[in-house]
Amino acid sequence: MEGLKALIFDVDGTLAETEELHRQAFNRTFQDFGLDWHWSVDTYRDLLKTAGGKERLRVWRDRVGARVSDATITELHKEKTGHYGRLMSEAGVRLRPGIADLMDFARKNGLKRAIATTTNRPNVDALCLAAFGRPAQDLFDTIAAGDEVPAKKPAPDVYLLALERLEVAAGEAIAFEDSRIGVLSAKAAGLRVIAAPSLYTTSDRLDEADLTAPALSLELVREASAFFSGAFSG
Ligand SMILES: [Mg+2]
Repeated sequence: MEGLKALIFDVDGTLAETEELHRQAFNRTFQDFGLDWHWSVDTYRDLLKTAGGKERLRVWRDRVGARVSDATITELHKEKTGHYGRLMSEAGVRLRPGIADLMDFARKNGLKRAIATTTNRPNVDALCLAAFGRPAQDLFDTIAAGDEVPAKKPAPDVYLLALERLEVAAGEAIAFEDSRIGVLSAKAAGLRVIAAPSLYTTSDRLDEADLTAPALSLELVREASAFFSGAFSG
């Protein structure tokens, strides 16, 4: 593993299958606000092509031609974040296979751990408490989240921010993703990417990833590190 210095994780769909909780939180919010909106599983899968909750709400508003202001979108999103946190603490969520092993492996081998996500920080905190039983800042060296960068995935910004904070070059890290926009974002930042599709991204094209597998595992990362050894020889 010489040359490898960091593992960078996407959150939703990668650390855990969180998208269903997000969808339910959005639908609860629409009810609260008296909106006749409802996102089915298929609708939400399609909306996930847009990164970021507020951005997704705007796409939907424009699609259905609703007279909902950007200020209201901001309020909806805030309410949704509250619902998501409550749903997360009530229902809980489990880490996807391989994640706990990867985190353990990183810790034992002195690799830095980071998050690069387009979700917001409260959502990251809620997930880490529910799934790891620990706060996010105890688990990751840096968390590059949602509104910290101007352009969301598939733009490379959030990955570039994570790399900058880690003080690690793109060639010294591996990114873990579950979606097409995530893979494109990490590749645009110059990273090697291992992708494992999640429930909501099974029909995403992930062929730009360096390696794809049905699920993440330590074995996969060992294989990848051999595969990438050229990149990590420096
Ligand atoms: Mg994802």
